[in-house]
Amino acid sequence: MRVVVIGAGVVGVTTAWYLAAAGHQVTVVDRQPEPGRETSYANGGQISVCHAEPWANPAAPLNALKWLGKEDAPLLWRLRADAAQWLWGMRFLVECLPGRTRANIIALIGLGLYSRGALQALRRELGLDYDQLEKGILHIYTDRRDFDQAVPRAAMMTALGCDRRVVDADGCVTIEPALADARQMLVGGTYTVADESGDANAFTRILAAYCAERGVSFRMGGTVQRLLGGMDRIEGIRLADGERIQADAFVLAAGSYTPLLLRTVGLGARMPIYPAKGYSITLALSDLTEAPSVSLTDDGHKLVISRLGNRLRVAGTAEFCGYDLTLNRARLAAIERRARQIFPRLGADALAECWAGLRPATPGNVPMIGATACPNLYINSGHGTLGWTLACGSGRLLADLVSGRPADIDPTPYRAA
Ligand SMILES: Cc1cc2nc3c(=O)[nH]c(=O)nc-3n(C[C@H](O)[C@H](O)[C@H](O)COP(=O)(O)OP(=O)(O)OC[C@H]3O[C@@H](n4cnc5c(N)ncnc54)[C@H](O)[C@@H]3O)c2cc1C
Repeated sequence: MRVVVIGAGVVGVTTAWYLAAAGHQVTVVDRQPEPGRETSYANGGQISVCHAEPWANPAAPLNALKWLGKEDAPLLWRLRADAAQWLWGMRFLVECLPGRTRANIIALIGLGLYSRGALQALRRELGLDYDQLEKGILHIYTDRRDFDQAVPRAAMMTALGCDRRVVDADGCVTIEPALADARQMLVGGTYTVADESGDANAFTRILAAYCAERGVSFRMGGTVQRLLGGMDRIEGIRLADGERIQADAFVLAAGSYTPLLLRTVGLGARMPIYPAKGYSITLALSDLTEAPSVSLTDDGHKLVISRLGNRLRVAGTAEFCGYDLTLNRARLAAIERRARQIFPRLGADALAECWAGLRPATPGNVPMIGATACPNLYINSGHGTLGWTLACGSGRLLADLVSGRPADIDPTPYRAA
């Protein structure tokens, strides 16, 4: 079958890989000059299966209120006259109910475990090197109340198949000695030894090259203006320069822009994917011995810290402000301040790059994978905070669904239709 994948982020490229492996003739279309240039460019680098709690949880509404209007808050709503934002916000509140939170965690862990296994298999098969580290993820807490709440959550994660150990402050320093200077701030942590980290952008570019070797064609620099056809069948896509591309099936992996493309055939109006802007700073390390190598999550500040070769990536926070990609200096400064507070010896390191990206967020953080109401139009999008973690499993699941063969995991929780 001829399949067009729209989007060459980490999700689109993994999808193309598994579709090609299933024997399809695949074309990937993306407006950027090379794969992985938008949200998959400079994310936190974590493959965080066992730290998969969604933002939507029972404590979230109170936190959001507390942070409202604070320019450097970890999670900031900029309320706009935007029906999509308000609708998404209301659905987010529903997902904060305890029963919904638990169902979402179960769905995320199921896909996450599958995805991590697929990533590891791919790494072995192709001998991939993308600055990956298999040293686990340590979630650190500097607030006693947050830590106390994390203890039963860790037990829940362990019961669901993730090994998440609770450790005290000294235990955190034993796991990551570079935390020694922050010892007095720490109240404890949770550690998941099986989680990983690595550069999502490098992975995307390398896998795209393997896709091309396998016969996938890449139409880069092509902005898809609209889908052509109706609710019963998509015939093709039209690019901004007028070019038309026809195929038998189409996969939307356009990240936060997926609902906008769906709207061109009257389908996206109720699609609950909304951009959640996040930031990262990347430091070029001059002294590799002082920097951490275990990937960290700083819970209170909604930040992750990952070592990527001789760089240190600090990423996170969320801002709901539509499709605006402006770099907000106050937010970037808050991220850098916190990183230097935890690692005061980073003082001499150069700030190599500041970046912002739009997470394609669903209210419960569970992605949408599968057929739409239109039979030959599929979605693989809405991966929110976990697109890198879930990419390989999502690509593989979508390829199974397009090919009409039984999937390895139950696709029901991720249904898009
Ligand atoms: C600050 C931050 C930290 C993060 N940290 C982590 C982490 O540690 N672990 C993790 O698992 N996830 C993390 N994420 C989330 C992860 O980065 C995203 O979920 C993931 O990159 C989404 O991938 P995607 O392929 O769906 O979207 P994208 O990478 O955005 O790809 C979509 C592609 O579609 C193309 N496109 C869109 N519209 C059109 C059009 N009309 N025509 C042509 N092309 C189009 C774009 O050019 C783009 O290349 C983080 C995100 C942020 C912002």
